[in-house]
Amino acid sequence: IPVNSSPTDTLHFTNLGAGNEVGRSCHIIQFKDKTIMLDAGVHPAYSGQASLPYYDEFDLSEVDILLISHFHLDHAASLPHVMQKTNFKGRVFMTHPTKAIYKWLMSDFVRVSSAGGEVDQLYSEAELSKSFESIEAVDYHSATVVNGIKFTAYHAGHVLGGAMYFIEIAGVKILFTGDYSREEDRHLNVAEVPPERPDILITESTYGTASHQPRIEKETRLTNLITKTVQRGGRVLMPVFALGRAQELLLILDEYWARHPELQHVPIYYISSLAKKCMAVYQTYIHTMNPAIRAAFSKRNPFIFQHISSLRSLDRFDDIGPSIMLASPGMLQNGNSRALLEKWCPDEKNLLFVTGYSVDGTMAKNIMNEPSEITTLSGVKVPRRMAVEELSFAAHVDFVQNRDFIDAVDARHVILVHGEQTNMGKLKSALLSKYSALKGTDDEKFIWNPKNCDTLDLEFKSTKIA
Ligand SMILES: [Zn+2]
Repeated sequence: IPVNSSPTDTLHFTNLGAGNEVGRSCHIIQFKDKTIMLDAGVHPAYSGQASLPYYDEFDLSEVDILLISHFHLDHAASLPHVMQKTNFKGRVFMTHPTKAIYKWLMSDFVRVSSAGGEVDQLYSEAELSKSFESIEAVDYHSATVVNGIKFTAYHAGHVLGGAMYFIEIAGVKILFTGDYSREEDRHLNVAEVPPERPDILITESTYGTASHQPRIEKETRLTNLITKTVQRGGRVLMPVFALGRAQELLLILDEYWARHPELQHVPIYYISSLAKKCMAVYQTYIHTMNPAIRAAFSKRNPFIFQHISSLRSLDRFDDIGPSIMLASPGMLQNGNSRALLEKWCPDEKNLLFVTGYSVDGTMAKNIMNEPSEITTLSGVKVPRRMAVEELSFAAHVDFVQNRDFIDAVDARHVILVHGEQTNMGKLKSALLSKYSALKGTDDEKFIWNPKNCDTLDLEFKSTKIA
């Protein structure tokens, strides 16, 4: 690390989660007596206390501000715990749509995680509502200053309300991507390159050096496989997170069914206790979505689907004949998607279609190896004959999109987070070789992939805090 002749200050970066893993995102930045926390998630492969970031390793009372990038559980679900059950006393910010959806999602999270009679519940409904009141909502592109820390939210794509944060402390500039996407989809704005160049970029590395198929090809493959399955009398299970990417898949399927009358006798279900409540949020925040869907909205609300029925629970589902079912949770850990998997997996006519990113240690990840049997939640072994397909609609950047974004942002220091160790390692090598010619020059790039709880120290020439 180059040392400047003028006095420097040390910036400390520590992952409390999502360091060489996907899950429990939480990052701490300390510089000039200011402390920023980024995200407060849980790990989807664990439950209760074990799913938390390593909060014990840091004095949360030091945190000035906590910024939440988006509403997914691995970025936001431990927030009520932080706010109500620790010595944290900072201010919490998220975008308006994130806050609106967060409320319903977390209450669903509390309900689902207490359903199994789990004693190790992280927080109660009452603690959740109490925390909700003190969360502050911010608009995109509008700077907020708290105690000498300035930050601005930019569009991140990924899900409704998804934000990247551009942060400035004492002249040092940092961009945190959260989860982001750069590919145009049906309803979201793609991630923006902020107008200013940051010194540090903290970016996701979910897909490492893998590449996605073009969107058109993916959609064709999705609709072809679904058509083939229902035509032979099979059922299609699509595990999805309660909301977010599910809306994009619903838009694709609703449009496809409208164009194919011969398929319209096959029902498509979206089973979610949140569907109704969240529809209202999607309608309210249509102005934060992309121009295509805003134009469609002027004719009719595209989120009022013509060929998809919402189901509040599986009790109301008559399982007769072929059907398509979008059910949560997305990684088949428990709940409706798991119940349907256990019921449908012995029949070879059926299809499991995984469209999200599956975290190590979850059923969705394990079933990708096409085991000959699976163990039900009640401990019974059932044969697995249903077909298994994976096609990413997860709205994370692939290698080329991530590399080009990193290049456009042009930060001196790139810190990789939110990726399994192997994927992250491959991305790091690819970036190092891309920038190898700059090694030893003034423009040298530094690529970091710190483990959880290891602190990365970076030297900066700082300006005086006003
Ligand atoms: Zn996400």
